[in-house]
Amino acid sequence: MTKQTIYDAAVIGAGPAGATAAYYLARAGAKTLLLEKEAVPRYKTCGGGVTGRALSFLPIDIETVTENHCYRVEMTIADANLHFVTQRKQPVIRMVMRDRFDAALVRAAKDRGAELHTGCPVLNIRSGNDTVELMTKDCSFFARFLIAADGALSVAVKALGDRHHRYRIPTLEYEVQVDDDTFNRHRAAARFDFGSIPRGYGWVFPKSKHLSIGLGTALNHKGPVNLHECLRQYMASLGIQPLHIERHGFIIPIRTHRGPLFHGRTLFAGDAAGLADPITAEGISPAVISGYYAAESLLHANFDQDAATDLYQQNVEKNLFCDFRTKQLLAHLFYGAPALRNYLFRHHGQRLCETVTDIQLGEKSYPSFPAILKILAKMFLLKPSKP
Ligand SMILES: Cc1cc2nc3c(=O)[nH]c(=O)nc-3n(C[C@H](O)[C@H](O)[C@H](O)COP(=O)(O)OP(=O)(O)OC[C@H]3O[C@@H](n4cnc5c(N)ncnc54)[C@H](O)[C@@H]3O)c2cc1C
Repeated sequence: MTKQTIYDAAVIGAGPAGATAAYYLARAGAKTLLLEKEAVPRYKTCGGGVTGRALSFLPIDIETVTENHCYRVEMTIADANLHFVTQRKQPVIRMVMRDRFDAALVRAAKDRGAELHTGCPVLNIRSGNDTVELMTKDCSFFARFLIAADGALSVAVKALGDRHHRYRIPTLEYEVQVDDDTFNRHRAAARFDFGSIPRGYGWVFPKSKHLSIGLGTALNHKGPVNLHECLRQYMASLGIQPLHIERHGFIIPIRTHRGPLFHGRTLFAGDAAGLADPITAEGISPAVISGYYAAESLLHANFDQDAATDLYQQNVEKNLFCDFRTKQLLAHLFYGAPALRNYLFRHHGQRLCETVTDIQLGEKSYPSFPAILKILAKMFLLKPSKP
């Protein structure tokens, strides 16, 4: 009888969280298994906007898979008729197609020695005292630790228990072919339109030859909404007449509490942990950052269970949850109180957009909770500064 292989770490999901974690583990010499249910490359429903926050954590230079660099960001508040533009000397958002982006990360992990199995869905997980068992159709794999990076519909969350509430934002993504004039009109800027859909926003992200256009809303919590009709109207409002549309839709999970990010020997990362930004729903950067810290925590703690899980929690608290309450507050203000949001943007819009651009670049972070309360109080109570 052959001896059962026990991996130092198994990673489920070869998206940005999982591929990043597998890369750093394998690079350090850990015996690493990466299981992905799809073939790689595969289409992934996503706007593909990568902000500067992820760059220093990404294992590879993503230039070769970047379709477009946006130095300019346009933001409108449609229901207040406001329009802002920010511009920087370096790209604020890099536009990627996720099939090539994710495949490049996976290749890097594999080149470093991670053992990759594609077309291999994990069907169930059993957490033991010393190992975690991952059950697939053909066999079980065993590892000392599991990094669950299997996205919004995580089988690991289902198997091990979802103890922290998250809400799910229904989101549409259309890959849209347009005529040259329309493409040239949109090619230079990432565009965000708030108020174009209740409790959500629409976006236009220019790729190398087409536009990725989408929208998301939290409105479904209160009642049904026809997102496809909203997106049709959104495109019409921008004068976009598609020549061809590929329609996709998915959900983005967003956690409502900080809470533990581990269960036994399993660390949750990326969408499986509900780490997307509650204001923008940006999830690639948090996925990459949490994937990096999941790997680093295991390595730094020398695969000691208590030390590794504590360290991972601390690292995420410090790097992703430091502004948790601020983001929750701003998301409520942004989507739940449009009149207040519009007042703020009418009087301080350009300043706010410049700050958000700096945050997207990774040059600033959101203010602490006490600081944001003071800032908002000043903005609401003091006479607005003249432009
Ligand atoms: C319409 C839309 C637009 C978006 N636009 C942006 C954007 O422009 N910028 C941004 O930053 N974020 C965006 N996001 C969010 C972003 O896509 C996610 O937050 C991000 O992909 C999370 O990365 P991840 O690695 O955690 O999970 P994923 O990228 O979802 O990767 C999970 C992987 O796990 C695999 N998997 C799942 N289950 C199993 C299983 N049982 N066994 C094995 N493998 C499994 C999946 O096939 C997948 O490859 C968008 C999301 C949506 C829905």
